[in-house]
Amino acid sequence: MNRRPMTSRQAAMLASGAAQAARAAGIRSATKVLAAVQRIRALHSAVDYLGQTICGHCSAYDGTSSCDNPPVPHPCPTIQTLDEPKDETQ
Ligand SMILES: [Zn+2]
Repeated sequence: MNRRPMTSRQAAMLASGAAQAARAAGIRSATKVLAAVQRIRALHSAVDYLGQTICGHCSAYDGTSSCDNPPVPHPCPTIQTLDEPKDETQ
């Protein structure tokens, strides 16, 4: 077994190969999708409103005392869709 330390050129080739493999496997776009889902979840986060747990975004909660929309219980339809996507082809 070769136990010599890796040269910087070898390390660069390995990193380049790993990046190529990740791109080929779609990992770059999967990371972007996961980040987008996290942003959606943050946008549709739960807030307490008059003793209810509601979606602040769907209810247009102002962050202090009122909603511009009727209060939408949390998890809202958006979060429900992320958690348990329904098959809408049937
Ligand atoms: Zn929502």
